[in-house]
Amino acid sequence: MSRYGMVVDVTRCNGCYNCFIACKDEYCGNDHLPYSISQPMTGQFWMKILEKERGRYPKIKVAYTAVPCMHCEDPTCVEASQDGAVYQRDDGVVLIDPAKAVGQRELVSACPYRVIYWNEASQVPQKCTLCAHLLDQGWKEPRCVEACPTGALVFGDTDDPESEISKVLASHETEALCPGYGLGEKVRYIGLPKRFVAGSVVLGDTDECAVDVGVTLEGGGATTTVLTDSFGDFEFEGLPADQHYEVRVSAAGYQGQEFAVRTNVDLYLGDIILVKTA
Ligand code: SF4
Ligand code: SF4
Repeated sequence: MSRYGMVVDVTRCNGCYNCFIACKDEYCGNDHLPYSISQPMTGQFWMKILEKERGRYPKIKVAYTAVPCMHCEDPTCVEASQDGAVYQRDDGVVLIDPAKAVGQRELVSACPYRVIYWNEASQVPQKCTLCAHLLDQGWKEPRCVEACPTGALVFGDTDDPESEISKVLASHETEALCPGYGLGEKVRYIGLPKRFVAGSVVLGDTDECAVDVGVTLEGGGATTTVLTDSFGDFEFEGLPADQHYEVRVSAAGYQGQEFAVRTNVDLYLGDIILVKTA
């Protein structure tokens, strides 16, 4: 028996929405009983794309994070359901029985990830099924994963050490979308947006970009040094939130500069003008 899981690599997602559209194509207007009834065209996002704008002009990044049901090991939706309306299969897929769940509107708020939606017309809660009806027909992956052009979604049997997902899990650091919920989420993430500290270094005497200048970030028990690129830019990415750091810029023949920063937001320090030593 397989144990299914998914890895979402945020660093590969370009926000194309192919996964979302594939999900709509599979479920809108199509009942897949006994797994699911038709998904409404609007108002439900079984595969939701969160867009997060990071930084400020001129240093802005956008992170896209695909969010399906997490098919948790310890799902609160199963606990909250009556008459076994939500259940976990032996392969780990968590399903809502569309017949038993009629009228159980409270299930919408039973999931802390808010991935259960209410179908007003049918009076039934609905969510991502991992395309269980297709898996049971022999498909190797859900429609969303098949449709992803960048490889941002990886699906498979986490109990099989030779599966692609097992290799990805073994070779990358992954985390739950909201680790604090502690639900044993089987959808794991690579590269969830953290914080960055960036800036641009300029030589004050020539007004030229300061290339290959050392910039050091110290804090949280670690010290990291990078060199500015051809545009005088530097960046420290993947930093924890709300951490205090010291940024030091030093170039031979110029006065060094120091900044105390806190990563409560993504930080762009702007142009740092180096002054020539006398
Ligand atoms: S993410 Fe929510 S709906 Fe999905 S299995 Fe976990 S608790 Fe249930
Ligand atoms: S299809 Fe892939 S790249 Fe496109 S939004 Fe979905 S996860 Fe991101």
